[in-house]
Amino acid sequence: MVAEGTYVFLCDMKYDFSRWSKSAVDIFGLPSEYMYGAGDIWESWIHPEDRAAYHKGIDDIFSGFASGHDMQYRARRLTGEYDVCTCRGIVIRDLAGEPDYFAGTIRNHGMQGHIDTLTGLRNQYGFFEDLEGCIKRNTGVSVCLFGISRFTEINEIYGYNFGNRVLQIYARRVFEKVGNAGHTYRLDGTKFAVISNTLSIAEMREKYNRFRDYLHDGFEVDDKKLLLDLHCGALRLHHFDIDSQTAYACLNYADEESKLRRQGDMVEFNNDAGENSHERLERLHAIRLSITHGFEGFYLLFQPVVDARTERLIGAEALLRWKNDQYGMVPPDEFIPILETDPLFPELGEWILRESILASKEILKDRPDFVINVNLSYAQMEKPGFTDMVFRILDDQGFPPEHLCLEVTERCRLLDLKLLKDVIDRLRDGGILIALDDFGTGFSAVGLLKEIPFDIIKIDRSFVQAIEEKEIDRQLIRNIVELAAIFGAKVCVEGIETPGMRDILQIYRVGSFQGYYYSKPIPPEELLDLKKQPHE
Ligand code: C2E
Ligand code: CA
Ligand code: CA
Repeated sequence: MVAEGTYVFLCDMKYDFSRWSKSAVDIFGLPSEYMYGAGDIWESWIHPEDRAAYHKGIDDIFSGFASGHDMQYRARRLTGEYDVCTCRGIVIRDLAGEPDYFAGTIRNHGMQGHIDTLTGLRNQYGFFEDLEGCIKRNTGVSVCLFGISRFTEINEIYGYNFGNRVLQIYARRVFEKVGNAGHTYRLDGTKFAVISNTLSIAEMREKYNRFRDYLHDGFEVDDKKLLLDLHCGALRLHHFDIDSQTAYACLNYADEESKLRRQGDMVEFNNDAGENSHERLERLHAIRLSITHGFEGFYLLFQPVVDARTERLIGAEALLRWKNDQYGMVPPDEFIPILETDPLFPELGEWILRESILASKEILKDRPDFVINVNLSYAQMEKPGFTDMVFRILDDQGFPPEHLCLEVTERCRLLDLKLLKDVIDRLRDGGILIALDDFGTGFSAVGLLKEIPFDIIKIDRSFVQAIEEKEIDRQLIRNIVELAAIFGAKVCVEGIETPGMRDILQIYRVGSFQGYYYSKPIPPEELLDLKKQPHE
């Protein structure tokens, strides 16, 4: 028994009788741990293209030409797939110098080990395996996911090796503090997790708080006192019809909330009073499944955008909806923020873009100045090949890029600024318009404007809600419009609900309006039927 994915063999060369690790026998489906002529037997497991080299290597050893080998080949698993293996062996001689034993190891690179090599904890594969086990057995468990804030600073100041030492010692402490109350995992980087079937979330929170205090009181590595700040998301699973990926998406979301909005206090996923988290999780699971089942249940509504002065329709924003028989209509705010970092989301994003453009092609025939606005999630932009995908869809559909506007929110500042700039530059160079959505709801909006050229700035409806009553709100809008002009951007105001709001905003040279006063989001076909202007 050795490390996962590593097998040992020992061959008595006088009799050509070998013993192999049981784990190798199991994974490859070999006849037995004990084999006569194992070298020949193993040959038929090796990929035909690699056989000649293997054969020569073994021949050299048994004919006395070589005293060892170190080779790579592909070997066939019981399941039929081939794994790349590194095989190393040496000949051990008896006192007379005659070959006695041939001993070595085979490392299977295709095996996903379940142990993290740096900390010795179970890794993300182990985590998902265990979590699935709990879900299948229906054992109630508490799970938490926690990370260290700003760990890159430690790497930058003290170097990478020291950073690794910190993680090793930190992992050790986590493991000790959890004790036998649960299992500890290192998922990746500075992300760790604990699964417990004895602790309640409240007890987990208590442990987490004590651990934070401990880290604050002094965590020393090689005589250096370090201050580590944590953030943590937690989730209670009990009799749920969901999979481990959905659970992980929720944990990730709670952990981000903890980091971004709660200064590291543990956030339990959906612990709001009155909301049934059980149902919410199952709903999310159903939505996730829809993505893998041909986007069943998803559809788009278009909300008209009008020119602020003439009130003529000049475009629309595509808004995602999801509906099924069991759960009815689920608003996008409920699932997009949670799923946007999910590995499945980019697929959905691509679908949204393609469907939006498909529907807009028809409208464009009727209204040649129509621009379709499509929302992006920041995680989509991070994916390599994102811009290629956008241009490919436009190409496939023969849709002019100047009639597509992509909306990004201030959340995109979570991305590396250089990457974000590159992506936006490439899109704009290709003729696509870029809007900054929900302006003013984040905290670095103006900074972002300085760095990145936006064609349109969309002002969140919270800024105009009280515009009819409050002079200060009117001044604010006036200033935002002036600010936008400095950067050469047009302004679109969202959430126009009354003619009074319109009258005021028309004074401040706003470019376009969107809101229930003009139209709620409607099926794209209905937009075509709007023979008259939406508000005439
Ligand atoms: P958003 O991009 O700010 O979209 C505008 C939201 O405001 C829409 O809600 C719209 O229905 C609502 N709204 C429009 N006019 C008015 C009004 O006059 N009064 C009020 N009270 N509300 C108004 P919706 O459709 O529920 O979308 C919510 C959010 O979900 C969106 O906010 C956007 O952040 C996200 N979202 C929607 N569709 C997509 C999508 O396809 N991709 C991505 N990444 N996010 C989307
Ligand atoms: Ca939007
Ligand atoms: Ca918005």
